[in-house]
Amino acid sequence: MNPSLLHEELTHQLAQLENDGLRRRRRTLETPCGPLARVDGRELISFCSNDYLGLANDPVLVEAVCTGARQWGVGSGASHLVSGHLLPHEALEQQLAAFTGFPKALLLSTGFMANLAIVPALVGRGDAVFADKLNHASLIDAVQLSRADSQRYPHGDLAALERMLGASTAKRKLILTDAVFSMDGDLAPLPALLALAERFDAWLVIDDAHGFGVLGPQGRGALAHYALPSAERIVYMGTLGKAAGASGAFVAGSATVVEWLLQRARTYIFTTGSSPIIACALLASLDLIEHGDERRAHLKRLTAQLRDGLANTRWQLIASPTAIQPIVIGDNHEALRVANALFERGLWVPAIRPPTVPKGTARLRVSLTAAHTGEQVEQLVRALQDLA
Ligand SMILES: *Cc1c(COP(=O)(O)O)cnc(C)c1O
Repeated sequence: MNPSLLHEELTHQLAQLENDGLRRRRRTLETPCGPLARVDGRELISFCSNDYLGLANDPVLVEAVCTGARQWGVGSGASHLVSGHLLPHEALEQQLAAFTGFPKALLLSTGFMANLAIVPALVGRGDAVFADKLNHASLIDAVQLSRADSQRYPHGDLAALERMLGASTAKRKLILTDAVFSMDGDLAPLPALLALAERFDAWLVIDDAHGFGVLGPQGRGALAHYALPSAERIVYMGTLGKAAGASGAFVAGSATVVEWLLQRARTYIFTTGSSPIIACALLASLDLIEHGDERRAHLKRLTAQLRDGLANTRWQLIASPTAIQPIVIGDNHEALRVANALFERGLWVPAIRPPTVPKGTARLRVSLTAAHTGEQVEQLVRALQDLA
């Protein structure tokens, strides 16, 4: 196809997105990540970020980065297996393993890359992956990349999963799930999933992007929340750009699994090691997470306040116990209209539309952080009651 034809086609497809209320637009922030944002000179209260503990702009992390930069410079200069694995990276991996209760952990540059690392390293052609239908996009792509046979069970449907596992003759089986579903905020039934994994001799891969730092005692994550052991068949992934306030991700598991990923995972091997100053920030962040009970308690109070405040509107609140509080509106255009009306009132809440969520379930995705105040949440509640 010649370039002008290709451009014509793309222009047409972009117009189609616009018509369907699906064209996405970025807004440029003139302020650091936090509850107060300025966009195009306008002051807004933001309910958009996954910075659940309010650490992204914490002075302790900023100081750790400055000190770290003076000691380690900025770049790591090479992939981890060549010469890009520095002391702060190594220390962080050890701390992450200890914090999550697994023998070993491996640091990766992003959560998306971590998921692309795990699944293709563990399964391939002839193996079978059993995945929750609402799993994150990176997990869906990871399965495709692995070439394993993919079966998706209806969200949280343990009976369906059990039937699929029972009917499978695959040599290796792998159950794949978000721990906290990113657009619904609900929790996967991890104890039951582990029991099924044990019964059918399957791997259990858990993506705890939204639970790490927030759930469980000292924020140790979704497994700790359910008081589950760090079983050998569990591969645990946590991200470091959400509650941990920086960027990156890690995989924790048995020494054998982590060593295998180090040898085989292409998104680990063929990429430059993340900046050592990020590792320095994350070492400080882990300490704040561990001692962050007050932040987590405040976040819980704000979550209850929002849910109580919206209990009687005509929109449906999803039964979410986490800081992710989606308000399902349904129609794409209406979701956008409500989001725009909130924006006009200085309240910034993202409208999430397909393909991020199933058709007909466009929603406002409110995310709360420990940096919000009760008054800010009250403003949002009043505006939503008004618009409903
Ligand atoms: C955000 C997210 C990821 C991707 O993590 P990044 O570090 O942002 O690349 C993976 N899985 C889930 C469930 C997420 O919410």
